[in-house]
Formats: sequence, C-alpha cells, structure tokens
Amino acid sequence: MCGQKRSIGLFRASEISKISILPDQRELYWLFNGVIRYSPLPEQVITLQADGNKIKVTQQGVSLGHYSKVSCTSDVGGIKVLKPLNPDLPEWAYAGSVFFTAQKGFLKIINEVEELDYLAGVLRGETGKEKSAAFYEAMAIMARTYACYYGDRHKAEGFDLCDQTHCQVYKGHFPYAPWFEAAKATKGLVMKDQEGICAEAVFHANCGGQTARASTVWKNDIRGCERVLDPFCHQSKGAVWEKRISKEEFIRKAGITDLEWNRWKSRSDSLPLFCYDGLERPEQLKLDEFHIHPVRWREKFGLRSAWFDIEIVNDEVVFSGRGFGHGVGLCQEGAMEMGRYGCTPQEILEHYFKGMHVTTLDKSNIE
Ligand SMILES: [Zn+2]
Ligand SMILES: [Zn+2]
Repeated sequence: MCGQKRSIGLFRASEISKISILPDQRELYWLFNGVIRYSPLPEQVITLQADGNKIKVTQQGVSLGHYSKVSCTSDVGGIKVLKPLNPDLPEWAYAGSVFFTAQKGFLKIINEVEELDYLAGVLRGETGKEKSAAFYEAMAIMARTYACYYGDRHKAEGFDLCDQTHCQVYKGHFPYAPWFEAAKATKGLVMKDQEGICAEAVFHANCGGQTARASTVWKNDIRGCERVLDPFCHQSKGAVWEKRISKEEFIRKAGITDLEWNRWKSRSDSLPLFCYDGLERPEQLKLDEFHIHPVRWREKFGLRSAWFDIEIVNDEVVFSGRGFGHGVGLCQEGAMEMGRYGCTPQEILEHYFKGMHVTTLDKSNIE
C-alpha cells in the first residue's frame, strides 16, 4: 500500500472518450493487448478512442486496430503528453507508464508512477512556485502521509488514488526542481501518531488565526486535528474577506421570514449580529432561538470560510470573515510564513498536528 510506485487515475473530473498521446523523443513502447509494438517514430501522435469496451487506435489517421487494453511505457523514463480531444481539455505531461482501458464508450486512464514523480506532481497541484524549501518539504511529507493513509481508496476502480481534490490534486510531470528536491529530501518520511499510525494529513489555504476541529466540518474527529491558535497567517492575503448579498437572496437562502428579517435588521443596523470574540473560531452562531451552523452557511452562501459575522447595512447583508477553506489540519499560508521564519518541516507539521511526529514510513528504520 505504501510502496515506491503509485497508480493514479487520471482526468477523473471528466468522462473522456478520445485522447491523443505525444511521447517525448526517448524510446517508448506501445503494448496493444499486452503485445509489444515499439513505435519506430516516437514523435508521431497516437490517438485512442473508446468504442464500447474496446479502444480504437489510430496513428496519423491510419487505423492500428481495436484493443481491450493499450499501454504506453518506456525503459528510460520517457514523458508522455496526454491531450484529451473529447472533451477538449488542456494537455498534461506524465512520467512513468500510462494504461488505457475502455468501458461503455469512455476511457479509463491510469498512470503508474514512481513515488518521487507522484509527490512532485502533487506539489505542483497543491502548492505553486517560489515557496521556501521547508514549506515544500512539509507538504511533501503531508502528501506521502496522505497517500499512505488513503492508499487503497480507489482499489475497486483499479488504482490507488485519483488526481482530483477528492484525493490530492496531481498535475503530472513538470520540471521544477524544488518540488523534486523536497520529495527527495524527505524520502521515506511520514507523520504518525504515538501508535505508529499514519495521520490523515489534511490541509487548507488559510485558517484565519485558529484551525477548526474536524468534527465541526465533517462527521468525525481526525486524530491530531485539534483547534490550534495560528499567529503565522494573520497578515497573509487569505486572512480576511467580505461578501455582500441582497436582502432577497439572504431571506431565500437563510430560510427566514420577512418578520424575522425585520427583527434581525433592527438588531443589526451596522453592527455585527453575533459579535463573537474575534480570535476564537465560532462553532455555532446563535440569535435568540435561531441557531446557525457556520459550516452549512458557508456552503449555502458560497463563503470562503465558516468563520464569519453578519451585518445588515441598508438592505444588504455583509458577511465579514476570516480564513479560506475548511480550516482543518495544516494552514498553508501559516506554514509558508513559518518556512520564511526558518522553521523546519518537522516544526511546521508538529505545530498544526498535535500528538503527531515525523518519522520513517518503515518502523524497522526508526531505531
Ligand atoms: Zn480520489
Ligand atoms: Zn493559519
């Protein structure tokens, strides 16, 4: 489950029926139903189209037949550029091998890739460029830990993890050295609790000053994800936000009556309605008998976070809040700031995950 190779389901947000593959110039093998056909002209584009449960293969418009499985692999780490044609989506490059099957007119695409390449692709999907090495290393340990915790999540579909936010966003191969260096520098390191169980390494963009308890966002608590005061993200761009909506939209989505609106308005008029302690993330907001679950209201009104107050100004409702994202686990903007202050990846992770420590994946390596 926590091996050196990962199999990742690609393009899982879309149903793809036709795709083209442009390999780089290195030696590359095409396998049709398990039979090797070395492509003598690797710069030539091959197109795969799902036809029921088979794949129709064409090269430069010439049919190469119908197959139930097509594989694209290389002994020397060639990069494959995949360009979905139907639907028309941006192309992405992948290291490792890519396997194709078809079901009911759609392609299932699986990338089997070394852990190093997988982690660099996750750092591409989840971090961005120009960050500190300590931040990248903390995120690489997070990504490896998450992959170990959820390693068989998609077993029934024939791969380990998908390439979407459902698992971790994986954006394939891109030659940006700091992502590969972070994955290499943290080789074998994961975050575990006292019993040696891998953490459920969740994160968000900005906590606003205090992280959230997992059970206020999802059904269950998550080990290590308690509420943590975070002095590091206050100054960053995601720390505060404001959203205005009309009276009509507010009444409709909040499910209140006109009478309740008038009562709220008379109570609010340019003052926040709940006036919670500004540095304490509220888990429930209450106005007389009206209870608000901030997480549900975040969804209902499309807010950046579940930490907010409300004012009614004239006939407009102003939400003003802190943070960006669900607030559970590691706060990325806080972690970036800790990296800039010179904190180590271990210090960053142990600040956000209480009772967790960074250790080697294989227990026998600890001593
Ligand atoms: Zn997934
Ligand atoms: Zn934070």
